[in-house]
Amino acid sequence: FTEKEKAAPVAKIKVVVRKRPLNKKEISKKEEDIIDIELNSLTVHETKLKVDLTGYVEKHGFVFDAVLDEDVSNDEVYRETVEPVVPAIFNRTKATCFAYGQTGSGKTYTMRPLPLKASQDILRLMNHTYRNQGFQLFFSFFEIYGGKLYDLLNERNKLCMREDGKQKVCIVGLQEYRVSDLETIKELIERGNATRSTGTTGANEESSRSHAILQLVIKRRVDGSDTKPPRLAGKLSFIDLAGSERGADTTENDKQTRIEGAEINKSLLALKECIRALDNDQTHIPFRGSKLTEVLRDSFIGDSRTVMISCISPSSGSCEHTLNTLRYADRVK
Ligand code: ADP
Ligand code: MG
Repeated sequence: FTEKEKAAPVAKIKVVVRKRPLNKKEISKKEEDIIDIELNSLTVHETKLKVDLTGYVEKHGFVFDAVLDEDVSNDEVYRETVEPVVPAIFNRTKATCFAYGQTGSGKTYTMRPLPLKASQDILRLMNHTYRNQGFQLFFSFFEIYGGKLYDLLNERNKLCMREDGKQKVCIVGLQEYRVSDLETIKELIERGNATRSTGTTGANEESSRSHAILQLVIKRRVDGSDTKPPRLAGKLSFIDLAGSERGADTTENDKQTRIEGAEINKSLLALKECIRALDNDQTHIPFRGSKLTEVLRDSFIGDSRTVMISCISPSSGSCEHTLNTLRYADRVK
């Protein structure tokens, strides 16, 4: 980061859409790419049938802070989304990056590389620009599944949340690792990801019903004191959200699935309301709506930044889910 970049004002909320390429399955089913992208605007070409069964195309246009086409690399995604907020977390800012979208739209593909790239920049700032200023980096990784918290770095232990009265969130029992090199961070990320995707039953399917939350926390030792605990300086959270279509599982036959669907629906709605409240500088932020927003409570107050990456499939077969994702993103921006 140059001095100029550090000083550049960063928007409080940034909404970015990423389109993935058509996959083999979609191509074999002869599904078509219905998404056109031009700079930061996007058009969905929805095929509809008239009463006389002739087809016509309805176009839906959207504009976002950025729209990333299928040829955009993960490095470019990082530069567009997370990189600009990194310097601010040394200065009391809490930044949160969400990946939103239906299962299979590319959330995990998009989210996975981001924490490591951010860590690289954070460590560089700690070791150069902010050298010898008492900054320390901590790492934690947990998930919310069916409204309950589980530590992804400690045998999926169940965790509980407490508020300390100063609007700080405390997750009791959460393993927080102090980290100072990239190799360790990489291992922790891989360990957490492995725990998440296998879950308790070993089914990959499970990850689409959970929110994964990876946090990089910056603390600072006060007055160079080794005895006093370091104070929170800033935070960068990465949230790989549950599949947005899971929120519609509320009519499922299976009771457990229905309960989970209702919880996901509630959390995604509450998240939208919290981000909107943040943007309007509202003093009342509706955290209480869900476990997800309660956990993120301290990231919604004070100097905070939100980056929403909405992932979409280009395929005609996903048209309805894609429109839902884009409408959600549109409400947030
Ligand atoms: P989600 O987490 O939203 O369920 P994934 O990230 O697992 O979706 O992506 C589904 C599949 O699509 C994976 O096989 C992934 O590798 C592939 N994929 C997703 N996004 C891209 C992309 N931008 N470029 C290439 N492949 C992608
Ligand atoms: Mg995923």
